Amino acid sequence: MKIYKFGGASVKNAERIHNLAQIVSQETDDLVIVVSAMGKTTNELEVFTQALAGDDCYQGDAFDELYDQVVSTGELQSSRFISAYLNHVGIANQWIDMTQILRTDASFRHAKVDFETTRHQLTEFMQSHPAHVYVAQGFIGGTADGRRTTLGREGSDYSAAILANLLDAQSVTLWKDVAGIYSADPRKVKDAVLLSAISYEQAREMAKAGAQIIHPETVSPLIEKDIPIYIRSFIHPSQQGTVIGKTH
Ligand code: ASP
Ligand code: MG
Repeated sequence: MKIYKFGGASVKNAERIHNLAQIVSQETDDLVIVVSAMGKTTNELEVFTQALAGDDCYQGDAFDELYDQVVSTGELQSSRFISAYLNHVGIANQWIDMTQILRTDASFRHAKVDFETTRHQLTEFMQSHPAHVYVAQGFIGGTADGRRTTLGREGSDYSAAILANLLDAQSVTLWKDVAGIYSADPRKVKDAVLLSAISYEQAREMAKAGAQIIHPETVSPLIEKDIPIYIRSFIHPSQQGTVIGKTH
């Protein structure tokens, strides 16, 4: 089992979803595909939630709960589109509703994951819905009483890592619009080189320092099980990109 995560830019329009299907069709191992909302949808839903709440916008917990109910629809929508399209082109897959599977507490907008309950629910779902390809959402989960939650902005990488840990996946691939991780920001530093391999610790340091390549929490669930993370370009999928792992 492998985890493939596709971020907003890689699912932003029909052409990109065709490209996703092309990448997925090349994979022979079983897959869980974790997707973000299309393009900048999350930003738009955020602005919409503020408008909807109006003056209530500043009422802490109540606003945060409304936010999660609205903003989580971005990933529910994109994953439905992608699942339907993959079935349409002959890539049979099972859609997973992570709001029913990924159990969290009720700290809306920064929900904490209950790994044990999630493991139990995920295993049970997969046993009762066997498939070679699953399509799931990043970023979102749900409480025991059925309210939707989110894990914090850009949290889809973290969702992919959680699923990898719980399923003992062989790897996580983050498909991005860059070729991999560079020694410095290639837009600013002329001599920046593409790194073929870096350690979990280096990745974590880079994430904390604000490199927008990977969500800082992503590494933790993977170190424990020594699961490598591949950063690869969805525009040039034949290139190797960067691997994050233990041995470097
Ligand atoms: N769609 C969410 C966001 O933009 C989660 C993610 O893309 O990782 O923050
Ligand atoms: Mg995003």
